[in-house]
Amino acid sequence: MTGILYVVATPIGNLADASARAIEVLRAADLIACEDTRTSRTLLARQGIATRTFALHAHNERSAGARLIAELQAGKAIALITDAGTPALSDPGALLVEAAHREGIRVVPIPGPSAALAAFSASGFASGRLLFAGFLPAARAARRKALETIDERGSVIFYEAPHRVAETVADLAERFGAEREVVIARELTKMFEEIVRLKLGQALAWLEAGPHRQQGEFVLVLGPAQQARDGDLAEGRRVLALLLDALPASEAARLAARISGAPRRELYRVALEHKSGRHSR
Ligand code: SAM
Repeated sequence: MTGILYVVATPIGNLADASARAIEVLRAADLIACEDTRTSRTLLARQGIATRTFALHAHNERSAGARLIAELQAGKAIALITDAGTPALSDPGALLVEAAHREGIRVVPIPGPSAALAAFSASGFASGRLLFAGFLPAARAARRKALETIDERGSVIFYEAPHRVAETVADLAERFGAEREVVIARELTKMFEEIVRLKLGQALAWLEAGPHRQQGEFVLVLGPAQQARDGDLAEGRRVLALLLDALPASEAARLAARISGAPRRELYRVALEHKSGRHSR
């Protein structure tokens, strides 16, 4: 019988964010594959987890992965973690998971912290479309070129290093215009967490306004283009008008929002107007 590969999300700064299930799986596994065994020791020691660890990082993922697959084939339960957050999301892990699928080994995710989704959840951007762009190239010319290829009207999530965040924000403003909104999420879940939502044209000044504002870890969430929001709403109204013939206002608004990506609350307001006869189609 083959084993199980657990893909376990770990905290991105606040150790209390380790889920009860993640701790249980790490404790019960035969082996924990860590991006950096020393980094993970803090989390494991805090939870009193003595499971054997094994290094699997960007530079040995293929060779270490082959050894782990052999262990899985021998029936072992292996938990895969990275230094922080969700494995395989701008982190090692995808090659091992891919190999596990190829070998018919069961893969079980243990979901939890991710800087990308934590930042998005705190952005307030309601677009139905979301692109995860990860890290842009470090060199400015290559970064600008990469931004040219992103023609996204929905929201876009970027990871960025502190020493490049100002340059990247300036490049985003040039590429997407000063009016488009961005959320700068810094040091999420940590003591000096800061989350601001502002126009791209104001973002550089915000970063330069305080001595600590370019320190720590960053996620940038680019908001949807105005046309996208307008487009979603127009589509939402169209779908809503059809659904209202058959459904109550709240249900029609909920479904129309899911189909179109337009905000449910706005569609519910329109639906109530329809039902009360105050709205002309
Ligand atoms: N796999 C991780 C995840 O699920 O979020 C991301 C790993 S990636 C190598 C590290 C990058 O994630 C950092 O450079 C930063 O852009 C972002 N990041 C990680 N922790 C963060 C935090 N606490 N606050 C803001 N950004 C963070």
